[in-house]
Amino acid sequence: MIERRKTRAVYVGNVKIGDDAPIVVQSMTDTKTHDIESTLNQINRLYEAGCEIIRVAVPREEDALALPEIVKNSPIPVIADIHFSPRIAFLSLESGIHGIRLNPGNINDEGKIREILQECKRKNIAVRIGVNSGSLEQRLLDKYGYPSAQALVESALNWSEFFEKVGFTNFKVSIKGSDVLENVEANRIFASKTDIPLHIGITEAGPSGKGTVKSAVGIGILLYMGIGDTVRVSLTAPPEEEIKVAYDILASLGLRRRGIEIISCPTCGRIEVDLPKVVKEVEEKLKDVKLPIKVAIMGCVVNAIGEAKEADIGLACGYKSAILFKEGNPIKRVSEEEMIDELLKEIKQMEGGVG
Ligand code: SF4
Repeated sequence: MIERRKTRAVYVGNVKIGDDAPIVVQSMTDTKTHDIESTLNQINRLYEAGCEIIRVAVPREEDALALPEIVKNSPIPVIADIHFSPRIAFLSLESGIHGIRLNPGNINDEGKIREILQECKRKNIAVRIGVNSGSLEQRLLDKYGYPSAQALVESALNWSEFFEKVGFTNFKVSIKGSDVLENVEANRIFASKTDIPLHIGITEAGPSGKGTVKSAVGIGILLYMGIGDTVRVSLTAPPEEEIKVAYDILASLGLRRRGIEIISCPTCGRIEVDLPKVVKEVEEKLKDVKLPIKVAIMGCVVNAIGEAKEADIGLACGYKSAILFKEGNPIKRVSEEEMIDELLKEIKQMEGGVG
């Protein structure tokens, strides 16, 4: 059982982050924000996949001007991602958005940042201080020589103190480096010094395969240490994939579950069925099921039920047939042709039972 770090609560719209709230899963659209239709379509798809907060890039005025329509029609709170421009920040704050993400290091004008925070306070808009290895203040780069964990922490602590000194506390922090160890170290140090909620993730993790591994390792270590109140997995892939990976990471640590979790064996010489094909088909057919259950698809009858004892339901395949089992007990033998349909039928019944 993971004991989570005690943090104070921050609200992005109606979504609570920190304190006793479940770890919130968020993502970012990759559409042009001023293309309102595409952006809202993607937000809706992400919402369906389980995304709880969405961030949109606001690089230009036309993007800020699209925000009111996006916020009005989004099923989840919207965060505007602002870099460099206080003007775009002020414009975005007029749109009804629920949060902004600022990298104060690249605005670098304390007077303007103070004004932005005053406006956020007045409108109850949450802020994320986003410290990234790629955009650290020059002063810290000169001091540390490169964006080390200490340099990232110093930047995050300085800006947190600045926010608190001007009376603004509705904020969370993210400290992201693309190097997993640096990232873990920076978040660990920061977490030991404050109760400010942390948004965690490995930035620029890469394409699906490597990026998923890197994210799972980095985010997984932090979560295991109890660190992290909201998660964003960054992949060079459609953002829906980020949501799936985020839930898979959280589920594998027993922190949150959503939808089906498939457990399948690695196969061995006992196998008498095309297991990868069966798993792929089951995964595809169950992708819209929201019931958080574990489904085991095992390659043989000999060890399968024992190996998959923590599954809620499953198939132990054999020669031209399979045993369907539920909560560790065999319930019936089914033929190879009907085994997937029988499994789906049982799961639909379980879904119906839950309502
Ligand atoms: S479940 Fe059966 S086929 Fe799969 S790895 Fe175990 S023993 Fe081998």
